[in-house]
Amino acid sequence: MELSTGLPEGWRATTSLGVVRIARFTTGDGVAFGVVEEGGQVVAKIDAHPFGGIQLTGERYPLAEVRIVPPILPSKVVAIGRNYAEHARELGNEVPSEPLIFLKPSTSVIGHGEGIAYPEKLSERVDFEGELAVVIGRLCREVPVERAGDVIFGYTCANDVTARDLQKRDGQFTRAKGFDTFCPIGPWIETDLDPSDLALTTTVNGELRQSGRTSQLIFDIPALIAHVTAVMTLLPGDIILTGTPAGVGPLQVGDEVSVGIEGIGTLTNRVISRD
Ligand code: MG
Repeated sequence: MELSTGLPEGWRATTSLGVVRIARFTTGDGVAFGVVEEGGQVVAKIDAHPFGGIQLTGERYPLAEVRIVPPILPSKVVAIGRNYAEHARELGNEVPSEPLIFLKPSTSVIGHGEGIAYPEKLSERVDFEGELAVVIGRLCREVPVERAGDVIFGYTCANDVTARDLQKRDGQFTRAKGFDTFCPIGPWIETDLDPSDLALTTTVNGELRQSGRTSQLIFDIPALIAHVTAVMTLLPGDIILTGTPAGVGPLQVGDEVSVGIEGIGTLTNRVISRD
């Protein structure tokens, strides 16, 4: 089967214009992609979709006056379990000998500022998991490690919210990690970033709970892309969650949880009651 990787000539030229930070937003009149400029103060509207090349419309809005929505709507979210050794140990698990993958449904995705809905009737233990997310830019399958960079559109922050009690009870992850709102991503996609050694922190109500570096990943991003695409085709906009460092813990209704990654920004969500 032919390898569907490799970017068209000139695709990276969009980033050489300084176009590096892609958000999706609404002013109340439809949803558009935009380029975040001026240190996060302004969003400049893009005509159509950023994967095809970026044309600015000339419309610009103060970021504080728009509503940010998920920076991309993936067909699927592929997540990696136990990809930081200390986190594997804190939950009493072995470090895996190959990447452990699972899926979160596309309907679990929400954006910066949206509420994580706590399913109080079904779970008594809902945890945060701050993670670096990789956004895929090309339809691809069977991507060799050395070409993984060709299929990456960019990076964003993610929270792999998990009903820990259901995960333990079920022995697999679908219900625990699949609730609506259990995959906050954002606030935007950073397209020009070296992801190999970034600081990642998670805070709850301003208190530091997780502090790791992406250099601690057991399987790095090229290895993850090769592993996942050996199994399934990835589509433009699909997301790979790279795993969470040590320090995971519970959330309560009313909490404000933030995942911050060096070079990207901070994803903040409040926990609300689902029922
Ligand atoms: Mg996770």
